[in-house]
Amino acid sequence: MLIDGHGRKVNYLRISVTERCNFRCQYCMPEKPFSWVPRENLLSFEELFEFVKVAIDEGIEKIRITGGEPLLREDLDKFIGMIDDHKKGLDLALTTNGYLLADVASKLKDAGLKRINISIDTLKPDVAAKIAQKDVLHKVLKGVDEALRVGLKVKVNMVPLKGINEDEIVDVMEYAKKRGMTIRYIEYMENVHAKSGLRGLSGKEILSKVKERYSIRKIGREGSSPAFNYVTDDGYKFGVIDPHKHDFCESCNRIRLTAEGHLIPCLYFDEAMSIRDAVKAGDIAKATEILKEVLRNKPEKNRWSEEDGEESSRAFYETGG
Ligand code: SAM
Ligand code: SF4
Repeated sequence: MLIDGHGRKVNYLRISVTERCNFRCQYCMPEKPFSWVPRENLLSFEELFEFVKVAIDEGIEKIRITGGEPLLREDLDKFIGMIDDHKKGLDLALTTNGYLLADVASKLKDAGLKRINISIDTLKPDVAAKIAQKDVLHKVLKGVDEALRVGLKVKVNMVPLKGINEDEIVDVMEYAKKRGMTIRYIEYMENVHAKSGLRGLSGKEILSKVKERYSIRKIGREGSSPAFNYVTDDGYKFGVIDPHKHDFCESCNRIRLTAEGHLIPCLYFDEAMSIRDAVKAGDIAKATEILKEVLRNKPEKNRWSEEDGEESSRAFYETGG
C-alpha cells in the first residue's frame, strides 16, 4: 500500500501519454504551445510500462490515461493490453476528446479498458467548432455511440462557459441521460494558456441552470472523487467539480506521470521527479525509490490560489486535467 507523507492512501495514477492535441480548445490550448516536448524525449509505452508495473505492485489500483489527446498516440490499445495483462481487474480508464474514438473503441475495450470520459461541451456543431477551433462534433458523437456500442462505461465531461455553451447545460445532460451516461460539469479553471477573457460558470450557477428543469437533491462525494454528486427528481445522478470552492486535497489519492517521465505528486511541477533514467536502465529498485520519495514529498495542499492568484500557470494539456 502507498501512503504519502500526510497519511493519505495513494492508489490512483494518471498517465499523460502526450501533451499534443488535435483540438485547440479555448480553455486549454487555444494556440499551439511555443514548444512541444521533442518526440525523442517521450518515453515509449514499454518504458512507461516499466514504471506502471512498479506502481501497481506497490499499491496503485486505478489508472487513467489522458493527455493532450491520448488517442493521438499510436498503439494505445497495446499499452492498455500490457497493463491489463499485468493485473487483471484493475480499474483502467481513459479521458479523450472522442474525435478519433469511433475507429478504436472496440480495440481499446478488447485490450482491457473499462471506462472512458469524453469531453462534450455542446451539441451544436458551430459552438463545438468555436470551442475546439475545428469542426469536430460529428466525429465526437460518433465516437460516443461506438464506445457505448462496444460496452464501455462512458462519462461526459462538460466545461460550462459564459456566453458560449451555458444555455446547453441541461441539453447536454439530457443527451447523456438518454444514453445511460453520467455527466460531470467542471468549473472552468483560469490559466495563463487559455484564451483571455473566457469566463466559466461557478458550480452554483451550473446548478441553478439544472434547477430550471429539475428539482435536485445533494448526494455528496464518493470516495476520493473531486465531484460532488446530485440526483434529479427523476433519479438521474450527476456531478459537479468546483475547484474554486473546494480543493479536495484532504482526500487526494492521486499522482501523475507525464509522457517525458516526470512523476508529479500534485498539480504543480515543482516537486516532480523524473523516473526516466531509472526505467531506461530497467532499474526497478531506483524507480521504486523515486516513487516513494515523491509520495513522501507530496504537498498537503495544492498552491493554485496561493501561488498564481486568480490564474494558474498550469497547462491542462501537460498534466492531463
Ligand atoms: N484531450 C482529452 C479531453 O479533452 O478530454 C484529455 C485531456 S483534457 C486536458 C482533460 C479534461 O480537462 C477535459 O475534460 C477538459 O475539458 C478539461 N479541461 C481542460 N482545460 C480546462 C480548464 N481550463 N478548466 C477546466 N477543465 C479543463
Ligand atoms: Fe485538447 Fe483536451 Fe485540451 Fe481540448 S481539453 S485542447 S481536447 S487536451
